[in-house]
Amino acid sequence: GRKPPLLAVRDVSTYYGSVAALRGVDLDVAEGEIVTLIGANGAGKSTLMMTIFGSPQARSGTITYDGRDITRMPTHAIARLAIAQSPEGRRVFPRMSVYENLQMGAALHDGRFFAEDLEKVCVLFPRVKERLNQRAGTMSGGEQQMLAIARALMSRPRLLLLDEPSLGLAPLVVKGIFDAIRELNRTEGMTIFLVEQNAYHALKLAHRGYVLVNGRVTMSGTGRALLDDPNVQAAYLEGG
Ligand code: ATP
Repeated sequence: GRKPPLLAVRDVSTYYGSVAALRGVDLDVAEGEIVTLIGANGAGKSTLMMTIFGSPQARSGTITYDGRDITRMPTHAIARLAIAQSPEGRRVFPRMSVYENLQMGAALHDGRFFAEDLEKVCVLFPRVKERLNQRAGTMSGGEQQMLAIARALMSRPRLLLLDEPSLGLAPLVVKGIFDAIRELNRTEGMTIFLVEQNAYHALKLAHRGYVLVNGRVTMSGTGRALLDDPNVQAAYLEGG
């Protein structure tokens, strides 16, 4: 039989007050896969990522990770299961140096792997390496995005959740970040769940994708199949 998915989202609904942001979402991420979730502004992409990470919690449905029900687990407990998140809006600690931000990422393991992992993220993001002593808040948007991902990596995730890593960045910077994501998956087999508005790049990168409309999954398939789908092209790719 097939191995169960590393992450399984089943019939999940999440509300803000009385307003549903997710309505019966089903989604799988298998070990070693890059899976992307695309959709327009306000479709509920960030909400799904945050729901996986425990805040807000799903009102109904279940989320299992590595065979364990994490639906009602607090965020700190989820983080200890080797799930790391790089949230939208590059939330780095602005007053801390780049180096200190990376130390915070390594705190989950009491810094035991700090030196080794620092070297790895510096190879992946040379720009971060050049700026270890700079205050994070003074870095450019693209640099902060790289730092946010690098910080997430310092916790040695088995599942990496990325919320719109391309947001507001120049094409060349976006390419650098997507190349780094591909590299992590290829060389380390890291499992990656990527929320993106940049559907073209996300679908080119991902093994599989899901389309979210108004809190519901309306389509899913391989990255290639979704790229070739006329409905996806009309809604998310034209002029993009
Ligand atoms: P974007 O691409 O613009 O970030 P998204 O697909 O990530 O959009 P969400 O941020 O998940 O969408 O928002 C889904 C819906 O939930 C939106 O209508 C949004 O206004 C609403 N929403 C999000 N956060 C809250 C909140 N804290 N309180 C109330 N409503 C919220």
